[in-house]
Amino acid sequence: PLVLGIETSCDETGVGIVRGHTLLADALASSVEQHARFGGVVPEVASRAHLEAIVPTMQRALDDAGVTLADIDAIAVTAGPGLAGALLVGVAAAKGYALAADKPIYGVNHLAAHVAVDTLEHGPLPEPAVAMLVSGGHSSLLLVDDLTAGVTPLGATIDDAAGEAFDKVARLLGLGFPGGPVIDRIARDGDAAAIAFPRGLTAPKDQLKHRFDFSFSGLKTAVARWVEARERAGEPVPVADVAASFQAAVCDVLTAKALDACRENGVETLVIGGGVAANSRLRLLAEERAAKLGIRVRVPRPGLCTDNGAMVAALGSHLVAAGVAPSRLDLPADSAMPLTSVTVAG
Ligand code: ATP
Ligand code: MG
Ligand code: FE
Repeated sequence: PLVLGIETSCDETGVGIVRGHTLLADALASSVEQHARFGGVVPEVASRAHLEAIVPTMQRALDDAGVTLADIDAIAVTAGPGLAGALLVGVAAAKGYALAADKPIYGVNHLAAHVAVDTLEHGPLPEPAVAMLVSGGHSSLLLVDDLTAGVTPLGATIDDAAGEAFDKVARLLGLGFPGGPVIDRIARDGDAAAIAFPRGLTAPKDQLKHRFDFSFSGLKTAVARWVEARERAGEPVPVADVAASFQAAVCDVLTAKALDACRENGVETLVIGGGVAANSRLRLLAEERAAKLGIRVRVPRPGLCTDNGAMVAALGSHLVAAGVAPSRLDLPADSAMPLTSVTVAG
């Protein structure tokens, strides 16, 4: 099927078009620079930016794919979770296009879309699989038995998301926003073993209750304390070493728990998605550790890990191919859409 996907859950306006598992267009407009001076995404600013960008981004995607709206078989749109005002822009636009062109509409889950996008690069996802979703708003381990029916949460962060930790640590190191890409880059010049930062929720006693949960706020505080102590002593802060050591701690915990979840559930495929999946050390470490266990790791290329329209189109295409019923045209945006629902019935 030829499916168009619209994404506006946070600060990226994305429109993607796929045919089956083939990506035809992935148009993106980002308001990230407008948020930089606030050190985080400002919801009102994001909504306004989506309003301005949605129509031109839609047109660009159709042009890039060389198709017209009439050619499209279905329109998928992120219905949640995300920022309420931002979601509404995409959902309203999708309804307008669906009504005007008389196409079925699928209101889909943003997190399931982060998992589905990998099919554009590596083909159908073997099920069952374990999915690790690590982004600015989420850090979850999920069991995927059937992506069309929903996913089973195995664990999640009990405080900060992994991407949030990257953003906060970057801020306290004075590196700007978003922090993930900068830390990834700067860490290449640092020593990952320079500072032994804590690995949250990996101690035996924590493992009892929080087997597959994550915690990153203690790590962030540990980095802040370490930097403060240096500054108090009047010593220079070795930014590259701090960045590399922090990144090493995050990636160590993420890969260890994800692979444990695979082993415990007898699963041979780990798929990683979300903005933090773009991290070079995470990708390398996951590959290395998984290879030793005979587990396959699937991670889409970095550009498909962060928010985009292609991921929504990929999930839509999967749902259409599986014969899942579309949503109703009056479907709501749901800022707290649960992981257990992949589509909104409406
Ligand atoms: P969500 O998907 O949870 O709704 P989001 O809009 O923040 O949230 P993404 O675009 O998937 O979603 O992720 C952005 C996050 O990924 C930011 O926190 C950013 O710092 C982080 N990130 C991006 N690239 C990298 C990288 N190379 N290394 C580590 N983190 C990264
Ligand atoms: Mg973003
Ligand atoms: Fe996202």
